[in-house]
Amino acid sequence: MLLALPAYALLSWHWSWSAEVTLALGTLMALAWLMVCERLSPGRPDWQPSAADMRRDASSLGLAAVTDTALSLLIHAAALAWQQHEAGASRGGSLQPMWQWLPMPVALVLVIAIGEFLPYWLHRWAHERPALWRWHALHHWPTAVNASNSVLVHPLNLLWNKLGRLLPWFLLDVPADVMLWAALFIQAQELAAHANVAGSLRGLRVWLGGAELHRWHHSVVLAEAGNFGTVLPWWDWVFGSLVLPKAAGPTQVGWVPGSWRPQALRWVDLIRGPLHQKPKASASADSAKSGDVSPRT
Ligand SMILES: [Zn+2]
Repeated sequence: MLLALPAYALLSWHWSWSAEVTLALGTLMALAWLMVCERLSPGRPDWQPSAADMRRDASSLGLAAVTDTALSLLIHAAALAWQQHEAGASRGGSLQPMWQWLPMPVALVLVIAIGEFLPYWLHRWAHERPALWRWHALHHWPTAVNASNSVLVHPLNLLWNKLGRLLPWFLLDVPADVMLWAALFIQAQELAAHANVAGSLRGLRVWLGGAELHRWHHSVVLAEAGNFGTVLPWWDWVFGSLVLPKAAGPTQVGWVPGSWRPQALRWVDLIRGPLHQKPKASASADSAKSGDVSPRT
């Protein structure tokens, strides 16, 4: 899939697709490809999504699309206001030339790593702080990890991830084309990190956040549930949360008892549910204090 990315970039350039089309089509194609691979060569046959699971995940994808569109409108409005402010102040001093001086592959790696920094900490805090965990718990609801349920994310969780990624990019004047390809790589890699496909990245797995690492994050055993960086394991390595046991994967993944989970993915439930959740349940806060490494279920 990663090898196909340059060919896809050429196609997008040749047909002059807009950034939105390139991003949406690339993400959907990556999802479809991974789901085909899961059927042909599943890592765990018992982790295949059922038809009901896929209907639930498709609803979540719809909610994500609405959230994404709302955020894009907000960002466009903010970008216009910022441009007007800059033009009025005629401040100069843009960082754009620095990015244009860097070769595209180097700029991409740098931009992806920068874009992963805040989402890494937001994800880690979401596991450590009950006030944030209630919005992240939905993603840990399924008792399997696969490409289909990788999109099961609460809209607020999606929003803070995107803002955490985009804010440093805007502040550092990252050019739009670098942002587009970094965003596509991140979105495709987030899906790949959940894919239930057999095989190993071998030596590459400590450089790229694949499914071998991310499955451990969904483990019900708290001591195994590190790897907060989905796309790159670098920040986990730097901040001491990288988990890489010798076993092929966790024995059990899924829901944390006491955490909120909805009856249906409706806006009213998604907003009221976490708000009415008692703030004591989180994936690791209470247990981490007492050093509990027992299974959550
Ligand atoms: Zn998580």
